Amino acid sequence: PAKGAPLLKVEGVVKRFRGLVAVNEVSFDISAGEIVGLIGPNGAGKSTMFNLLTGTLPLSGGRIEFLGTEISGKSQKEIALMGIARTFQHVKLRPQMSVLENVALGAHARASSGFLRGGLNLDSTEEASIFAEARHQISRIGLSQRELDNAGSLPLGLQRMVEIARSLASDPMLLILDEPAAGLRKAEKRALSDLLARLREEGVTILIVEHDMEFVMNLVDRLVVMNFGTRLFEGDPAAARADCGVRAAYLGEAA
Ligand code: ADP
Ligand code: MG
Repeated sequence: PAKGAPLLKVEGVVKRFRGLVAVNEVSFDISAGEIVGLIGPNGAGKSTMFNLLTGTLPLSGGRIEFLGTEISGKSQKEIALMGIARTFQHVKLRPQMSVLENVALGAHARASSGFLRGGLNLDSTEEASIFAEARHQISRIGLSQRELDNAGSLPLGLQRMVEIARSLASDPMLLILDEPAAGLRKAEKRALSDLLARLREEGVTILIVEHDMEFVMNLVDRLVVMNFGTRLFEGDPAAARADCGVRAAYLGEAA
């Protein structure tokens, strides 16, 4: 889709867990080429929203559309095949496999429409194109020097980048990151932020679900702020920083 075209439409989405309303009629849109941050204090409903977007949890109400097609009710696999890729809050690389093999798994997911059937047993041309794609994605994150290292031997900040490369290898139209800055040191956060800014320049559309407000502040085009399951704010980062409700929500957490 062309830059600025509507990609994702979240309309009045509700998620209830027994008595608790974890997400309460939340709406927002994402257009092609944007980086949007979905932030909020602990318990705001961010992870629940992430799980609704990726098909990990069923909705209790509302609808989600991707490229004009309703995705609410579809499985994780169907949503992934439609072009929404995700990373996990807790890095889920295969630590004993090389960086290259890990990223190749992402490329393979696309090549064989979704799921690994007994590892990487492919014919040699298919295999060559998967590894070429994996190398391309690794160069994109600047890690070509380390492609043969075991993923588990890399510092956490680089593992996060490998996760992103693996997701990009499936050639998604929307990349959703779950708390990419969690547990990273300052310098690692900066490097990750630089990488995401570069990807945006290349036209990748990204939704960052993140607790760390400072991490997203200088990076995103737009922020959606949640608190107690509702959408508290939507707008540009400078306006979010100045918004009394947003400040109170984050201060309330610090207290
Ligand atoms: P965040 O990611 O913003 O910290 P969550 O989406 O994890 O917030 O949680 C929002 C609310 O929903 C919290 O009150 C949490 O306890 C509750 N919650 C999340 N997942 C479940 C679940 N599977 N069962 C019951 N309650 C849940
Ligand atoms: Mg969470």
